[in-house]
Amino acid sequence: MTDLCRLLVASHNPGKAQELAALLAGLPVAVRSLAGYPQVRLPQETGETFAENASLKARAVSQALHEWALADDSGLVVPALDGAPGLHSSRVAATDPERLAWLLQRLDGLPDPSRQAHFLCVLALTDPRGRLIGTWEGRVEGRILTAPRGQGGFGYDPVFLYEPASLTFAEMTPEEKAAVSHRGQALRAFRADLLHLLETEGADV
Ligand code: IMP
Repeated sequence: MTDLCRLLVASHNPGKAQELAALLAGLPVAVRSLAGYPQVRLPQETGETFAENASLKARAVSQALHEWALADDSGLVVPALDGAPGLHSSRVAATDPERLAWLLQRLDGLPDPSRQAHFLCVLALTDPRGRLIGTWEGRVEGRILTAPRGQGGFGYDPVFLYEPASLTFAEMTPEEKAAVSHRGQALRAFRADLLHLLETEGADV
């Protein structure tokens, strides 16, 4: 019988495990980070889609530790920039301020319609044998401002205007952001399916 009591988050970032654990609260699942497993190396993100990259990371952890693993991959997609920064969102520059400058410079002088953008997040779940059980996607639309606003969040949040609230993600509380964000949506979809998986897979859960 499958034991889905423990779920490893395929990331060396303890913040990600905490965020996931908060959204899975109330379910009989103990979410852990890779903090206790420094020997586990995550693979290069060589996939051509967010789903492929998330699956690569989850599979690597399941195969190394023989545990259920959950990985995410996310990024900002700007159609006017042919989808950039997209899969390379964290790699276009070394720091958050440099990534913001990179984006603003590329959109410099472009009118509103070209500043439409969306964040995407894909979660992938693998079983202890490294088999992909499923992927879950979240997406949120917004517009890239010409200058940063707000102190919260991370990454591209200060220039990402969530138009229904007239606020950037950096001006929202973490709870407000999670209620509408790509990551929040993907996690809620995953949570719903996990409930079902726990019922069907785990008499021992
Ligand atoms: P990763 O999924 O942790 O590899 O993140 C990819 C990159 O996309 C991050 O480093 C950020 O630059 C960007 N990104 C993903 N999600 C968000 C978000 O919620 N706010 C701002 N930037 C994000």
